[in-house]
Amino acid sequence: MPASILVTGASIAGNTTAWWLAKQGFDVEVVEHAPAFRDGGQNVDVRGNAREVLRRMGLEELAFQRSTREQGTDWVDEDDSVVARFEAGDSETDSGPTAELEIRRGDIARIIYDAARQRAAFRFGDRIEGVEQDAAGVAVRFESGRQARYDMVVVAEGVGSHTRELVFPGENEPRWMDLTIAYFSMPSRPGDSPYARQYNTVDGRGATLKRSLDGQLGAYLGIQKKPEGENEWPVEDQRRFIEAQFAGDGWEIPRILEAMRQTDDFYFDVLRQVRMARWSDGRVVLTGDAAWCPTPLAGIGTTLAIVGGYVLAGELARASGDTARAFDAYERVMRPFVKEGQNVPKIVPRLLWPHSRAGVTLMRGAMHLAATPVVKHLINNSFARDANHIDLPNY
Ligand SMILES: Cc1cc2nc3c(=O)[nH]c(=O)nc-3n(C[C@H](O)[C@H](O)[C@H](O)COP(=O)(O)OP(=O)(O)OC[C@H]3O[C@@H](n4cnc5c(N)ncnc54)[C@H](O)[C@@H]3O)c2cc1C
Repeated sequence: MPASILVTGASIAGNTTAWWLAKQGFDVEVVEHAPAFRDGGQNVDVRGNAREVLRRMGLEELAFQRSTREQGTDWVDEDDSVVARFEAGDSETDSGPTAELEIRRGDIARIIYDAARQRAAFRFGDRIEGVEQDAAGVAVRFESGRQARYDMVVVAEGVGSHTRELVFPGENEPRWMDLTIAYFSMPSRPGDSPYARQYNTVDGRGATLKRSLDGQLGAYLGIQKKPEGENEWPVEDQRRFIEAQFAGDGWEIPRILEAMRQTDDFYFDVLRQVRMARWSDGRVVLTGDAAWCPTPLAGIGTTLAIVGGYVLAGELARASGDTARAFDAYERVMRPFVKEGQNVPKIVPRLLWPHSRAGVTLMRGAMHLAATPVVKHLINNSFARDANHIDLPNY
């Protein structure tokens, strides 16, 4: 009988892992806390090794069809004049601010989900409440009252994972990035730029409008500040907070705030990296943001989630039932990639979301310089994060 595996979390990491586990012959069940598949979210970047994994799943072409085709990123001033421009194809390593494959989170999650549900069983509206392991397997108690045994559990519940805290209590040392963000969709207008536009004002506030699909733009608001527990607030309080912070600001911000009042696609987070010294405990293993969230600042979270699912499933198949060996190999392959992905200095949000008028002027000057051909080449190809970090194994 094939080993039975519970995957918890039906987003990018969970669905990729489920697809590959089922392909490797495991019996896979996925449980998702939300009552139905979660659409929504703004652009994510799929780079390097993750493109290769999608190709091996036969999904890369589908993903490109849903690409937002953003042409690049502009830093703009109060008058919407371009201060600095980075074209999508500028970087030979596809590591600039706009990736070759920019896609809405909901679209890429949906593409992988549609493929995974052909092979794995999905249940929505439930979550793990208790986990007990013995030598032979894992006994799981769900919130619904259901009880079941599995040979393994894969936790892919994202940055705030509940099961991670049950199985690895106190082991996550979050690294707060001092940036609070809100992302949502808003209607586009004729004349909106095909380039992402990044605008900064004082007191650490900034906004981005990004090209999207289906008559929409992606709106991003960010505030550089120390965290004060905002991620635990009710959504309505989070909206009120963002509204109050940006009230009175210029550029496109009145339009953005007006759209925020109408949207039901509101994503809010206080950015923190997940730092775990180990990713497995017995027969329970973490993957995706639950294991190593690098934050959207790194531009590589979705790439790591896709590659992590592929490697985890492959190593489990390769180890023929020796779970410990598989989890060791998974860490050996993924650790260096994750480490590089998480390597975002904490000074970055302070530099990119300045507080003083002088800081904004300085940042724009630096961006202007960085966008000149010589400096851009140097930055993109010498210092940028490498999304082709691993020699992707063939399992
Ligand atoms: C609705 C949504 C919108 C997002 N929007 C953006 C965005 O605009 N930009 C960006 O950069 N990143 C966004 N992200 C985060 C991004 O998807 C991840 O950083 C990255 O792709 C890694 O994915 P992941 O599967 O590890 O985690 P996530 O995408 O966070 O997925 C975790 C999944 O687990 C589910 N879950 C949580 N707790 C439990 C539980 N206890 N039991 C079962 N299921 C559980 C969640 O509902 C979710 O479906 C968004 C995530 C979500 C869920």
